[in-house]
Amino acid sequence: MEKMEKMEKQAIGNHVNIKHVLSFDVEEYFQVEAAREGGMTPEKWSQYPSRVDLQVNRVLGILDDFQTKATFFVLGSVASKHRDLIKRIADGGHEIASHGMTHKMLTRLTPEEFAAELRESREILSDITGVDVQGFRAPTFSITHKNPWAIDVLTDSGFTYDSSVFPVVHKRYGVPDVSRWTHVAAGPSGGKIVELPPVTLRVLRRNIPIGGGGYLRLFPVKFVAAGLKAAQRHAAAGMIYMHPWEFDPAQPVTPMSRRNRFRHRVNLSRTEPKLRYLLKRFDFQTAERYVKSILPENLETFAY
Ligand SMILES: [Zn+2]
Repeated sequence: MEKMEKMEKQAIGNHVNIKHVLSFDVEEYFQVEAAREGGMTPEKWSQYPSRVDLQVNRVLGILDDFQTKATFFVLGSVASKHRDLIKRIADGGHEIASHGMTHKMLTRLTPEEFAAELRESREILSDITGVDVQGFRAPTFSITHKNPWAIDVLTDSGFTYDSSVFPVVHKRYGVPDVSRWTHVAAGPSGGKIVELPPVTLRVLRRNIPIGGGGYLRLFPVKFVAAGLKAAQRHAAAGMIYMHPWEFDPAQPVTPMSRRNRFRHRVNLSRTEPKLRYLLKRFDFQTAERYVKSILPENLETFAY
């Protein structure tokens, strides 16, 4: 902790003017992996009230206050049930990208099933917005060294960028040996795609995840600010990710292990003030605009 604070101090004063990337994964609170592990199978989803509309509206209101545009990685199954909501996000000038169809981790899909999820989600999303989908984020950051074929499938499917890789050591996910910053991910069949990993802090030769989700709620927001400043020093944009359900402390409790419930619910009431803190101090843009502003040939390539 002391070390993290020191790193933060070192990062101050080294920043260039760079716009970071702000993203939201649009899914229901009961569709997360931790709930699935607790026995919440897709057949049980209908037993829980939908709150995604209310939660996304909350997020859109905050973004409007700061006139900031973000990328929304939308689950296809949510989009097909909430077409008006997705249209409203897009009409607000935000980017709509794909979060797949079923929220199954890619480790549980075959390459063919993954390609089908990409196709279907993209069709639904572009049918609603009239705009082609450029980006993808895997459920639970589930592109790892176990499924590098996913990079090839994304390239073959015509996606421009991906944000599915967390450069950390974690039980469910993580590729700790690739760059913490924007890079080119190369698949075994030669597919190449621009990869935007979420923000991490480098502490004691380990990457500490801080750029979103439970980490962002758990750690002081100043650590996140330090991560963004570290990105600036590397002339890269930092990727922040949040979920609309993280702005809703009143969401029903779903079956989860005690540990997962803590992670899912810790500091839910702090998400909004933390986002406002970051919006006040940093500039953000959509992933699509950021990717358009960089030259992939200037990026380092990592084989997955
Ligand atoms: Zn998700």
